[in-house]
Amino acid sequence: MDIVIAVLASFVVVSILAWFLCKNEIKHLRRQMEQEVAEKNQSLTRQEGQAKMILSSIDLGVLYYDHKDQLAISNNAAHELLTDIPQDFLQFLDRYGEENGLRSQLFLGKSAADAILREGGNMIYLKVLAVREQQSTADSHIAMLRDVTRQFGEERQRKEFVSNVSHELRTPLTTIKSYSESLIDWGIAEKSPSQIKKDVSKIYDDSILMEKLIDDLYLLSSLDENSINRSLHVEALDFARLIKLIVERMQDQTKAKKIRMSCHVVSQVPPVYADRTQLDRIVVNLISNAIKYGREMGEIQVYVGFLRDEVYVKVKDNGCGISEEDQKHIFERFYRVDDSRSRHNGGRGLGLAIVRELVELHQGTISVSSTLTRGSEFTVMFPSAAKMMRSTLFDLMHNGSDGSRLAEAATRDLEELAHRLGIVAKWASLSEEDKHTLLAKLEQMNKLKATTTSTGE
Ligand code: ADP
Repeated sequence: MDIVIAVLASFVVVSILAWFLCKNEIKHLRRQMEQEVAEKNQSLTRQEGQAKMILSSIDLGVLYYDHKDQLAISNNAAHELLTDIPQDFLQFLDRYGEENGLRSQLFLGKSAADAILREGGNMIYLKVLAVREQQSTADSHIAMLRDVTRQFGEERQRKEFVSNVSHELRTPLTTIKSYSESLIDWGIAEKSPSQIKKDVSKIYDDSILMEKLIDDLYLLSSLDENSINRSLHVEALDFARLIKLIVERMQDQTKAKKIRMSCHVVSQVPPVYADRTQLDRIVVNLISNAIKYGREMGEIQVYVGFLRDEVYVKVKDNGCGISEEDQKHIFERFYRVDDSRSRHNGGRGLGLAIVRELVELHQGTISVSSTLTRGSEFTVMFPSAAKMMRSTLFDLMHNGSDGSRLAEAATRDLEELAHRLGIVAKWASLSEEDKHTLLAKLEQMNKLKATTTSTGE
């Protein structure tokens, strides 16, 4: 009996112990499972957060319509591109896919369809993908949107440019061809020597026009590719002296129209960094226009001066002037206000486009102020050499040089200046004291002795 009681008692004790152990183990397992679930949840929330962050930061518009055709996801870029985003996919197709054929492509069963949308003056590329999720009986749809306005504009400009070039080349070529044909066929035998000379001169003039056009096109293409930067020879130039020399050189061209041309240096003019040939081209172009579009017995005044760190040249005429509407376009390639008048003057509408690009290459600006029948005033401003050296010094200390020929020339002169002042030209670690010494010296460079001179009157 005792044995039975002992066995029972030990059984009870063992059971109680086992129950305790199991209870603890179950508790432990449950805690472990709860922890795993919490970690999974955390990871899912993190992934969702990351996906949202990526979607909101990309510039591709994304919309997701679920298998019930309801808008489930839309990112910032999509809202910026489309003013109104319907909640329902079918409404979305009605609104954005009807005219461009996107809706019919999807209704015909295509799993991917694309089209171009015109929205508020912008061009948007829209692509829609139909996707089938696991265990779903209907398709969900992902719409992607990208702004392609700039690409379309560039493509249009490229086509216009090619057609303008062909047209401009064809005009003198037609003259050359017809004059030479008639000379070969019968002109040499039948025309008088003076008439033959006139025809050959016409052929010669038009071939010069073609040559000029090709030179201009070549220059524009090297400006587009920025390959001109390599051939620039930038140095600190005596701006006022150069402009005076150009005005003197061009006095002869004013004689045919009896135009009076004068040059006024109205303040002290510090040097500028520029390529001599290109600076010459800019000013010659503006003065040639002032002569071409100036009136008979008119007046051209060229002013050179210095204003708040900028050096300027202003070419003022009292010719036909330019309307406000035309002023918005004259710097565009091939734009001519009066086609026949411009052609008659040998103009091809490229001069001011080239001038503007050359000015910008020298980190300058160009502006026009004009009144119809009263005359025009073109002003070009360039940073003074000291200003350029100052901005280059900051670049060298903080981000490194921008690699332009102007910055290279300014860096060379900064190194020389530092050497003269006994400063070690280690720009990234330049002390505050050395920086202030250099800046003070640059400030002095802008304060040359004032000179006020006039020529050509
Ligand atoms: P173009 O070679 O035809 O002269 P530009 O690019 O130099 O071409 O000038 C564009 C147009 O701007 C010209 O067709 C002309 O009508 C107008 N324009 C330029 N300069 C002047 C000026 N000083 N006065 C009046 N019109 C001007």
